[in-house]
Amino acid sequence: MNISSEAKSDLLALLAIDLEITKSKNDSDQIAKSTELSEIRNRLIEAASEFTNVLSKVETIRTEIEKVASDLNLVETRIAKDQTQLLQTSSPKDAQGIQSELATLARRKDELEDAELNLMDELEQVERDLEKKQFVRDDLDTQVREALEVQEKALQKIASGLVLLKDKRAQLAARLAPELFEVYERKARRSVPVGLLQGRECTACRMTLGATSLEAISGTPQDQLIECPECQAILIRE
Ligand SMILES: [Zn+2]
Repeated sequence: MNISSEAKSDLLALLAIDLEITKSKNDSDQIAKSTELSEIRNRLIEAASEFTNVLSKVETIRTEIEKVASDLNLVETRIAKDQTQLLQTSSPKDAQGIQSELATLARRKDELEDAELNLMDELEQVERDLEKKQFVRDDLDTQVREALEVQEKALQKIASGLVLLKDKRAQLAARLAPELFEVYERKARRSVPVGLLQGRECTACRMTLGATSLEAISGTPQDQLIECPECQAILIRE
């Protein structure tokens, strides 16, 4: 197959574009599976679950406080009722019974008030903890959003770069003789499709060619397509 010097430089340009396309795709993959982003995401998941745990603690304590308050209410109502009865009764025996009940109710009232105070203290602490956990969670949430935005922009930049590269590639492909382009594509599916002969070395496989191969190459006219005897890439002489 014959090959013009324009076709030779087009093949080299095509190779450069294909290398750049491969690099862009790799960069894109790397960015898409960013370990930094997944680390922040994992920390966010953890922080969100910690927040939920503390929130459920807050809710439990609030329910307990409501229960104690309602018990306290019952005890206080009972005390008021007993006090009224005590004023109304004329029986000393009844009065003794009511007083004994009032003493029990007073102890119960003390217990409930202590319990209510302790729960209030506990609630205050847990609510402070909840605030901290919320701050950490919200901060990580912002970090994830920002990292996603940066990632999205980087991916878009690569994607528009790829559109340009593919345009250029299509132009070069259209300029090359179809059979030559076909040879290039076939070789590209296997390995590096084009190499430059630099001194005695093929740049596609980095092998140093033997004297016999070099002699055969120099005996071939410049406008004839030759291959690297080591890697079968289209070999272009400088
Ligand atoms: Zn080679």
